[in-house]
Amino acid sequence: MSHPLQRDPEDALAPDTVADSGEVIRCDACPVLCRIREGQAGACDRYANENGKLVRVDPLVVLQRGAPAVPFFEPGKPWDGTLVSGANTFITGIGATTTYPDYKPAPFIVSSKLEGVDMVTVVTEGIFSYCGLKLKIDTDRYLGPEQSPVRVEGEQIGHVTTAEYGSQMLSLGGVRHLTGGTKKEGTVTCDALLRLANRQPVEMKIEDGSTVVVQAGEPPIVNGEREERMRVGCGSATIGIFAKQWHGHADEVIVVDDHITGVLTEHQAGRFLDMRPAGVRVRGRKSTPGRYFKVAEPGLGWGGTDIVDPLSIIEMIDPKRAWQGMRLLMVSTTGEDAEWFVLDGDLKPVKQPMPDAIRKVVERIAENCEPALCTVLFMGGAGGSLRAGVTENPVRLTRSVKDLMTRVTCGGAPTYVWPGGGITVMVDVLRMPERSFGYVPTPALVLPIEFTMPLEAYAAMGGHVDRVVSLQQALREAQFKAHAWRRENPWPVCT
Ligand code: SF4
Repeated sequence: MSHPLQRDPEDALAPDTVADSGEVIRCDACPVLCRIREGQAGACDRYANENGKLVRVDPLVVLQRGAPAVPFFEPGKPWDGTLVSGANTFITGIGATTTYPDYKPAPFIVSSKLEGVDMVTVVTEGIFSYCGLKLKIDTDRYLGPEQSPVRVEGEQIGHVTTAEYGSQMLSLGGVRHLTGGTKKEGTVTCDALLRLANRQPVEMKIEDGSTVVVQAGEPPIVNGEREERMRVGCGSATIGIFAKQWHGHADEVIVVDDHITGVLTEHQAGRFLDMRPAGVRVRGRKSTPGRYFKVAEPGLGWGGTDIVDPLSIIEMIDPKRAWQGMRLLMVSTTGEDAEWFVLDGDLKPVKQPMPDAIRKVVERIAENCEPALCTVLFMGGAGGSLRAGVTENPVRLTRSVKDLMTRVTCGGAPTYVWPGGGITVMVDVLRMPERSFGYVPTPALVLPIEFTMPLEAYAAMGGHVDRVVSLQQALREAQFKAHAWRRENPWPVCT
């Protein structure tokens, strides 16, 4: 089966291969410039030739506070206009179309009123070659070495980046993978980004590491195993949280963790409780008392290490300090792995049934773990020519965004705009409507984006004020679909 993004634009009749005729129209919504036969769609499946007219295949998505009064509207059908009240309806960029090249005004420049202030929202579907995804994968399981290539269908689409607290991080896409390698690398990268951004699962292979299936809002599946819990904290933090609850029930607790393994009686928390040093020395590099780095190699065993037998991290037991009958708990940072030992006459740890008081605390570790999820953030640069669809003087839009005068949303979802130059936005795909993203085979992703600001500010930045229309005017000719506003998102039209 051919790759969905390997469909050549020429399948849709590339420029100069077919003469213009009444039946063939040219789409100029992206640089591919497909010529599309009647009844067929262009290379990205977003535009089609419907009876000789170029149409956007998907309806425009509008969001409404409260339940949508009319969920779907087709032009030509009776409509009494009650759907749209400017205060409660927001036009998103989803299905809005793109105006390429961007010196043309954006497809929708819509006015509204807020508490007596005239507002404007500029709406478009931006085409992003400079874009990628940041993936946060809640797991301690070893995915692969930092900087290791992440591959789909054998093509590198990104790399492993710096791990965060309880999560492994991947950086995917970017202009180098989209445009700088082979055609296949670009199309596979674009397809993987598109599926992830649209909340679909993607299986990735990490070089010298694991296979992981990632889907936004779902637990990761690492080497076929569905992750359940995110660790409660590092080994040292786990000691800090539960030391008091272990006190009196165990003589030593070792919390096994790939990054910082904790040893209770040496740790500040154990000292604070006046616990007797137990003389168990673990492998690895001592950072501070009771905190050890690199007790083992990373892996799929206890606490994100390669450990299967927890006793393997014990370097020695000091006979001057340890004693017969000493009670030792070894536990992982999620409570998934735990074993209870009592030292015999030779000071050897012997596995014993775990007492209820200890089991209760181990279960509490698990209870305090949050569900493991995958988070997918889109990141892209909106500081390029897209701005010309908003204003004749693009740097003023950038300044207005930086001055918080202009609010940037993607499909109505709030964005984080990076400090410094440009308009580099980040958005959580789960806060956007489903299937918000599209692609073009250049290859690049298509992202809905909206800029909202007071009309006065829009005029001052050199905006296309002659193209401002009311919401009713904008929707009169559009085929649109109304979705309920997501309550967790702030309403974007605000002063
Ligand atoms: S790829 Fe899509 S947007 Fe680009 S020209 Fe073809 S139909 Fe139009």
